[in-house]
Amino acid sequence: MRKIVAGNWKMNGTRENLVEIKKISDRFSGSDVDIVICPPFTLLSAAKEIATNIFIGAQNLHVENSGAYTGEISAVMLEDLSVTHAIIGHSERRNEYGETNDVVARKVTTALKKKLNVILCIGESELERNENKTLSVLKEQIYGSLKDITDIENIIVAYEPIWAIGTGLTPSLAEISTTHDSIRLNLLEMYGSSASNIPILYGGSVNGLNASEIFSVANVNGALVGGASLSFDTFSPIVKAIENKT
Ligand code: PEP
Repeated sequence: MRKIVAGNWKMNGTRENLVEIKKISDRFSGSDVDIVICPPFTLLSAAKEIATNIFIGAQNLHVENSGAYTGEISAVMLEDLSVTHAIIGHSERRNEYGETNDVVARKVTTALKKKLNVILCIGESELERNENKTLSVLKEQIYGSLKDITDIENIIVAYEPIWAIGTGLTPSLAEISTTHDSIRLNLLEMYGSSASNIPILYGGSVNGLNASEIFSVANVNGALVGGASLSFDTFSPIVKAIENKT
């Protein structure tokens, strides 16, 4: 199983921050972890040039490849920059830009056609959690977002409880274990035994202090990191925590 630590910079970072990406790329050359940094679109091209040892990903893409969609970025444009990954269905996109499972599914299809690795985000809200709906919400998101997909080679799933994003809160290890096991079962139901190779990342307030214990949970194959991915100093301990883990 591939181990993956991805960083989502969200709407943060200007050219002066590229040095953080360069430091990560230099330090983790030859690592057994796939490191993916997803800076804002404005930095993708420059990041690709300096980050020779890690992957560079986008945070979103449009369902269409070109056309009258002011302000949008397409998979063709990402392909042109040799970007390798795309985050799709982040809860901030789902909640603030109305991305339904259906839209997410179309984006996944578009991205895979351009050979991008898809980091598909799923996660329950605080209310859904309190109503004990976590596993059913996740199942609906998985089935809905992957409904048109038969080839899962380039799929990565990121479980991100919405209430844990940027809050400093994390589920207990037992809860992470239950949800990741359930996600794995859903994927196995959909795709059979080949789904045992789909990496499932945990995301939501991961940092250098909690990463090791989170990575010790079965079916956690890496992390999607927001705030702590913005600097080399806070991101490196997370990568180190999963390096050499068998
Ligand atoms: C995220 O938004 O994908 C995320 C995991 O953020 P943070 O690590 O800051 O909670």
